[in-house]
Amino acid sequence: MTAVPRAVCLLSGGLDSTTCLALARRDGFACYALSFDYGQRHRIELEAAASVAKALGAAGHQVVHIDLRTFGQSALTSDIPVPKGRPDAEMAAEIPVTYVPARNTIFLSFALAWAEVLGAADIFTGVNALDYSGYPDCRPEYIEAFERMANLATKAGVTGQTRLRIRTPLIELTKADIVRLAVELRLDLSLTHSCYDPDPAGRPCGQCDSCLLRKKGFAEAGVADPLAR
Ligand code: ZN
Repeated sequence: MTAVPRAVCLLSGGLDSTTCLALARRDGFACYALSFDYGQRHRIELEAAASVAKALGAAGHQVVHIDLRTFGQSALTSDIPVPKGRPDAEMAAEIPVTYVPARNTIFLSFALAWAEVLGAADIFTGVNALDYSGYPDCRPEYIEAFERMANLATKAGVTGQTRLRIRTPLIELTKADIVRLAVELRLDLSLTHSCYDPDPAGRPCGQCDSCLLRKKGFAEAGVADPLAR
């Protein structure tokens, strides 16, 4: 009997990372979900991540605590207001203030450490280069560079024991494609959370870049968002 291969799956509890986790599971991996409590203002997403990990039968779920408010600078980790109601063109024009310095590098580094401990060769991340918010660490060339680095940086990589792969099944999909895929996979999207700036009850604001991208994706896919008010 062949052992089931293990994968570490970055899981924020949003639409993309939830769909990504479901794809990893569909492809036969035992999934170890990894979330971060990094001082984000939308910390409520961690509850979504826990529900999603459970619903999708993750083999494990860890929440790493690292306080990126120490450095601040992002609207997600400081008192800088989250931009609201921005038109598509403005979103695409520059790296927004919701960019968290080096966030994906930090997250993938923790995923790499856990993968090595688990003997997992695969790390899944739901990054998306098409309908994204202009973040440089969501681009394919960044992911390729990280994968190269991962194989130079780890015992698993240099002993040739494991060829580490950073898997990004959503990287070339639009938000609408991701919504369609989630529906195909029969995911319960009411469990997910996308908003950067939810109200105290955890309800989405409807106006931040993340809410607007989500809204556009559901509208283009012709699917009703269970979180829409
Ligand atoms: Zn929002």
